[in-house]
Amino acid sequence: MNQPSAEAHAEVGQFLLSAVRPEAAGAPESGIVEVFNYGRGRQGLIPLWVGEGDMPTPGFIQEAATRSLAAGETFYTYQRGLPELRSAISTYMSRLYGRPLDAERFFVTIGGMHALQMAIRIAAGVGDEALIPSPAWPNFLGAVGVAGATPVEVPMAIDPVRNRWSLDVERLAAAVTPRTKLIIVNSPANPTGWTATREELEAILALARRHGLWIVADEIYGRFVFDGAERAPSFHDIMAEEDRILFVQTFSKNWAMTGWRIGWLECHPALGQVVENLMQYSCSGVPAFIQRAGVVALEQGEGFVQHQIERVRRCREIICDALSGTGKVEFADPAGAFYLFFSIRGEADTRRRALRLVDDANVGIAPGTAFGAGGEQYFRLCFARRPEDIQEAARRLSAALAG
Ligand code: PMP
Repeated sequence: MNQPSAEAHAEVGQFLLSAVRPEAAGAPESGIVEVFNYGRGRQGLIPLWVGEGDMPTPGFIQEAATRSLAAGETFYTYQRGLPELRSAISTYMSRLYGRPLDAERFFVTIGGMHALQMAIRIAAGVGDEALIPSPAWPNFLGAVGVAGATPVEVPMAIDPVRNRWSLDVERLAAAVTPRTKLIIVNSPANPTGWTATREELEAILALARRHGLWIVADEIYGRFVFDGAERAPSFHDIMAEEDRILFVQTFSKNWAMTGWRIGWLECHPALGQVVENLMQYSCSGVPAFIQRAGVVALEQGEGFVQHQIERVRRCREIICDALSGTGKVEFADPAGAFYLFFSIRGEADTRRRALRLVDDANVGIAPGTAFGAGGEQYFRLCFARRPEDIQEAARRLSAALAG
């Protein structure tokens, strides 16, 4: 067969793309990738653009996966997750949230992203609307859109008195229409660090009850808080059994397991068969050897989690002090998660500036344009790295801003 010409090739491409479902074709491209591609591989660059730390998964967690493989755990497994893992999650969560949370509430997923995707599938589809406080992690909008529903961004604002991001629940209420099916609540939040107070969560829950809405509660950064508490306020603290809440969780951040792709969805056990079926038709189960690592992470990983949180706390101080010292930067103090969401005075084109900072400072940060409405004038920087790196990144950024 002859090689087709470049034009013929492009034509075939167009022809095939025109047949793609609009929801799939319309899925937005990540706004972080452009800067990442621009700076990828540069000598000495300090990468603070993606949402992960620099520490590899601890060896004792890795070994559990290796042992499982060596023991031949290479077959199909439980759709809901290994009973041992569901039980370990139940023990961990019950302790952290101070109330019994039965193993039947937990479903092991391919990372938090898959838990989010299933939660949206449970709650909203074609013709429905989902409220998303914004700026937000872009995957919320993407996943809602791919499910055929319409994401409705509700702008958040900085409360000048507390110098914290805050959500105006009246504004959220005003965005509810007869088509609204769910609210996505990510607290502590990526990228803003917004951490809902118990009162804010109560107001959101009251709104959801009033309109019969689902809440997708993404509390994956719940351990990363900076007020000395063990965890952030949670819907677990205030919910009743019949509340329609779907919790998204992951091993990615607490146990430095982003590449393993394992997390969990938590909901009322009455939804068990629905979740099991959605598992079957999306990924048909999470590999058993990955799940074995999850058990060990939960049972033996607490020291590591605490070490990581301590380190992140120090890094937050280093970067906040250094950047506020420049006099060129503005931000609301992040109450949780591990991102600094800041603006540079007088800089409107954040996409171009993020690219330039790769050249000028050899530091990689994400432009706020990646995080939806209201994020455009900001930059996001992830400070979950060695304090020495964060110190050096702060020094380079300060120098670039001074120039
Ligand atoms: N929720 C939020 C808010 C996130 O920032 C992330 C990862 N960046 C996830 C969920 C998903 O995490 P993962 O799929 O890696 O478990």
